Amino acid sequence: PQTVERIAAGEVVERPASAVKELIENSIDADASRVTVAVENGGIDGIRVRDDGVGMARGELERAVDEHTTSKIADIDDLESGVATLGFRGEALHAIGAVSRLTITTRPRAGGEATELTVAGGNVTDVRPAGHPSGTTVEVDDLFYNVPARQKYLKQPSTEFDHVNTVTTSYALANPDVAVTLEHDDRETFATTGSGDLQETVMAVYGREVAQAMRTVSGEDIPDGPLDSVRGLVSHPETNRASREYLSTFVNGRYVTASVAREAVVDAYDTQLAPDRYPFAVLFLEVDPATVDVNVHPRKMEVRFADEAAVKKQVEHAVEQALLEEGL
Ligand code: ADP
Ligand code: MG
Repeated sequence: PQTVERIAAGEVVERPASAVKELIENSIDADASRVTVAVENGGIDGIRVRDDGVGMARGELERAVDEHTTSKIADIDDLESGVATLGFRGEALHAIGAVSRLTITTRPRAGGEATELTVAGGNVTDVRPAGHPSGTTVEVDDLFYNVPARQKYLKQPSTEFDHVNTVTTSYALANPDVAVTLEHDDRETFATTGSGDLQETVMAVYGREVAQAMRTVSGEDIPDGPLDSVRGLVSHPETNRASREYLSTFVNGRYVTASVAREAVVDAYDTQLAPDRYPFAVLFLEVDPATVDVNVHPRKMEVRFADEAAVKKQVEHAVEQALLEEGL
């Protein structure tokens, strides 16, 4: 019961971007090679995430929107040991369904019929056979229509879209082998090819100029510490024209906020005598999940490491090294 309560404490949906994050994660977990994210009015009016992943049979679909259901944890002990943290909590679809009008249409890759299920304000209102290619489409309409308190905190659509764009971009960069497309009000923002090539992916999402300012973080010869590896991209201060700080961090493939990684990048920049430049970086950290605390923040975005100082040292070293390298 304690575990269940802890899971229940998680608040999943704060704004359109948090729903987008959960839906993209689900698509990637479902082995998709193509994920299309389309939002309307910054995601406030509508969010649609479509994938060509494994899909769901009718029974699986019905279970998927129940409270605390996940197909991803074999044993509840996995939760305690940390194996299943960073996203596998089986609460996202249920939580999204509670605060929107949710429609999921899916067809199992393994064969069988497509099914469409609708949820409004937390209640399943319809389940019926449908037409859909193998894979899943999740539509979230009228987010927070039944939660005026939350609606009040939504920002301008352009700001909400910035957040959606940041999340989608980050997942595209973290998964160069997945073709990710983002559309806003029927206009394509970017589309990656899914070729597996990181440089090509950076080019697709940020354009040539930004891509050329980026250095590869390879994390070779980093000091020993909690992180098994640090890789990614960081803009060189001299070529970087960013007008605001931009930093996304992935821990074991999950998009999170890790303040210590940000501090490490800022310090590495200072070492390069570029204190007036805004760092632009995407970092992928791999670590033993048992040494990560994901319960710091109710939205499970913020993570802490058991030894933050050691993690910082490793990241800072990896970034400093990258800034000495030639451009892409
Ligand atoms: P979690 O991802 O933590 O398991 P979710 O609420 O996000 O919880 O999803 C519940 C379940 O629904 C997943 O475990 C998975 O079995 C199924 N599911 C969700 N999205 C997809 C998808 N895009 N493709 C296939 N199955 C999915
Ligand atoms: Mg999920």
